[in-house]
Amino acid sequence: IKIKITEIPIPVAFAAAFEGERIRKGDMFAEFGGGKTESWELVMKRELSEVEDHKIEIIGPDIDTITEVPGRLPLAVLVEVAGKNMQEDFEPVLERRIHYFMNYIEGVMHVGQRDITWIRIGKEAYEKGFRLNHIAEVLYAKMMDEFDSVVDKCQVTIITDSEKVSELRGKYATPRYNARDERLASLTDESVDTFYSCNLCQSFAPAHVCIVTPERLGLCGAVSWLDAKATKELDPTGPCQPVPKEGVEDEVKGVWSAVNETVAQISQGAVERVTLYSIMEDPMTSCGCFECICGIMPEANGLVIVNREHGGITPLGMTFGELASMTGGGVQTPGFMGHGRQFISSKKFIAAEDGTRRIVWMPKELKDYVREKLDATAKELYGIENFTDMICDETISTDSEGVLAFLEEKGHPALELEPVM
Ligand code: SF4
Ligand code: ZN
Repeated sequence: IKIKITEIPIPVAFAAAFEGERIRKGDMFAEFGGGKTESWELVMKRELSEVEDHKIEIIGPDIDTITEVPGRLPLAVLVEVAGKNMQEDFEPVLERRIHYFMNYIEGVMHVGQRDITWIRIGKEAYEKGFRLNHIAEVLYAKMMDEFDSVVDKCQVTIITDSEKVSELRGKYATPRYNARDERLASLTDESVDTFYSCNLCQSFAPAHVCIVTPERLGLCGAVSWLDAKATKELDPTGPCQPVPKEGVEDEVKGVWSAVNETVAQISQGAVERVTLYSIMEDPMTSCGCFECICGIMPEANGLVIVNREHGGITPLGMTFGELASMTGGGVQTPGFMGHGRQFISSKKFIAAEDGTRRIVWMPKELKDYVREKLDATAKELYGIENFTDMICDETISTDSEGVLAFLEEKGHPALELEPVM
C-alpha cells in the first residue's frame, strides 16, 4: 500500500509559486556550491533491500553551526530510490526534478545540476527553523508523490562534511555522470528518427520550448535525449514529447517542419521557427537556467561563451548576469543563445555558422572542462590540433584589442572565415 503525502513537515511554505524566487547576497544565511565550495546531487537506483524508506541522514555540520553569516559549506544531496519498476535510465529524470522541488521551498534557491549545483538558504527561512533535514523531507515527499509508479522506497542523505562530500562524489556521482554521457556519445542526430520537446521551464518562461536531440541537450544541461526519452516513458503525458524528424528543410542548419510545428504549438504561437544548429537564424529560445551563454563578437568574427559560475566581465563588455538578462525569458535573440556545457563540443554546435571553430573566448575553467572533447571535435571536423589552446580566456585578455592580438598570434581559424554577420 502506498501512502500519498500531502503535507510536507517543514517550517516554511512549499509551492510552485516560489520557483522564480531569488535570494540576494544580503538576504542569504547559507550558501553551497556555485563555484565556491564543492556541491553535487545524485539520484541513485538501489535494490529494495538496500533502501530504508524515509530514512533521512545528515552527515556533517548543519546550518545552525554557522557563526559568520553568510556561511559557506560543501554539499552533497544523495537520493537513493528503489522500486520494482525503477530503471537506471530514470535516475537523471528524477535527479532533474531536485532543481524544481528545492526551488518550490520558500527561502531556498537552487541553480545548476550534477556537480555544479549552487544553493542558497535565506535568513528568514533559517529564522523560521529551516534546517538541512527539511530539504531531505521535501525530496522524500516529492519523489514518493510524483514518481510513485517507479519509486517504492526512498532515503535521502545530505552531506556537508567536506571529506565525505569528495569521497562519495568519486565513488558514486562522477562514475554515474560519466556512464550517462558515454551512453549518449554513440548517438547522433542522424541516427535517430525522433527528437523530443521539453517544456518543463514554461512555468517561468511561458513561450520557452527546448528541442532535445542526441547531439544537443537541453540548455539546462540536465536533459539529454536519453533523459527526454525516459521522461516520456515515465510520464506519457508529461513535459517531454516525441517530435518526429520529418519534413527536412535544411539538415545542415537543422530545420525540420515537424520541429517548427511542434515549437509553434507548445509555445502557443509565440515562436514559429527554430533552426537547431544556428545562433543567427531563428535560434532556440532561452528560459533562464542555461549553463552557458554564447554571443557574437563581431570584431573577432567569432563567438564568446561564458558559463554561469564566471563572475567577471567578458569581451562582449558584459558579465554572465548582464547577458542573461537580455537572453532569457523565452524569446529568440539572434546573436545570443543559452546552451548546455556539453553542447560546446558537439558537432552540431552552431554548425550553420561554421561550428566550434568560431569560438574565440571562454573562461579558463570552462576551457579546461570542455578541452578534451572540444579538441577531439576540432581535430575530426577541421584537422586542427589542440584547438582549445587557440581560444582566449580571462587570464589572457577581456578586451577587444587583447583578444584580437592573441587570436592573431595563435592563427585562430575564425579570422579566416566568412564574416559572421
Ligand atoms: Fe527542459 Fe529545457 Fe527547461 Fe532543461 S532547460 S528542463 S530541457 S525546458
Ligand atoms: Zn529552464
